[in-house]
Amino acid sequence: MTAESVIDTQGDQTAAQAPATVRASLSPSRAADFKTCPLLYRFRSIDRLPERPTVEQARGTLVHAVLERLFDLPAPARTPESAGDLVAPQWDRLVTEEPELSTLFADGDAAGVDGFLRSAAALLEGYFAVEDPRRLEPAEREALISAVVDDELLIRGYLDRLDVAPDGALRVVDYKTGGAPREAFEARALFQLKFYALVLWRTRGVVPRVLRLLYLKDAEVCDYAPDAEELVRFERTVVALWRAIEQATARQDFRPRPSRLCDWCSHQSRCPSFGGTPPPFPVAAAAPDPLVDARSRPATPGADE
Ligand code: SF4
Repeated sequence: MTAESVIDTQGDQTAAQAPATVRASLSPSRAADFKTCPLLYRFRSIDRLPERPTVEQARGTLVHAVLERLFDLPAPARTPESAGDLVAPQWDRLVTEEPELSTLFADGDAAGVDGFLRSAAALLEGYFAVEDPRRLEPAEREALISAVVDDELLIRGYLDRLDVAPDGALRVVDYKTGGAPREAFEARALFQLKFYALVLWRTRGVVPRVLRLLYLKDAEVCDYAPDAEELVRFERTVVALWRAIEQATARQDFRPRPSRLCDWCSHQSRCPSFGGTPPPFPVAAAAPDPLVDARSRPATPGADE
């Protein structure tokens, strides 16, 4: 099994720059979808069914945006007050960029928007309870990282933050903003962090020392220390997962796998486990380019948060 670094970039250019041997790409979110429920993967990645944004998802996006911008400020200015001041302007920016977010609140529902912004500010308080951003200088924020594994699979995803210690040690940080029960999603969150760890190891030759989940609602930190042997096994798992996706696609056979996560699934009405019927499988001409995988930002609240 071989791996080849592609590029670390803020832009989503990696598919175009990948070696000619690359046949497909896989993000941690989509890989986790298939692992969680093959039919969910199909709905999101093959049928590309729309999922209405929800308040919880929007709050997560907003908090991630504020935390990213917070580190644009000089270190002494990264205070809770500064973060609070970023909430409303960042929400305005997000609504301008994604107008469907404005449909989360009825026209003129100023109280609803105000309560939403205050709930985002409360999550930021959770952040400041576990970290002091004045003492941090992240190496990367919202960075797209990618690597080619098994010569033909491009794995890539956006990590929330990467810290690099003076001795070169890497710490991958993922902010969790959802209110869903943590035990239902922790395995999925860890899967995603190992995905990033694998990419970093393959591109930089360094196994991240720490994979850190920051649970902002509970103001808790969950650290995990991977090792190289584990990442070798994980790489095999990712490649095997991709082979399984290829087989399922060839057979047009994506089965539902009901679990607690169904409570956060947008597609119950089309799911046989809930009495629904999936749409006809897209014809080949309409099928998505496997190199144009969705970015790794959570697609539904709770699913990744
Ligand atoms: S409702 Fe559950 S079983 Fe059905 S597609 Fe969604 S996650 Fe899968």
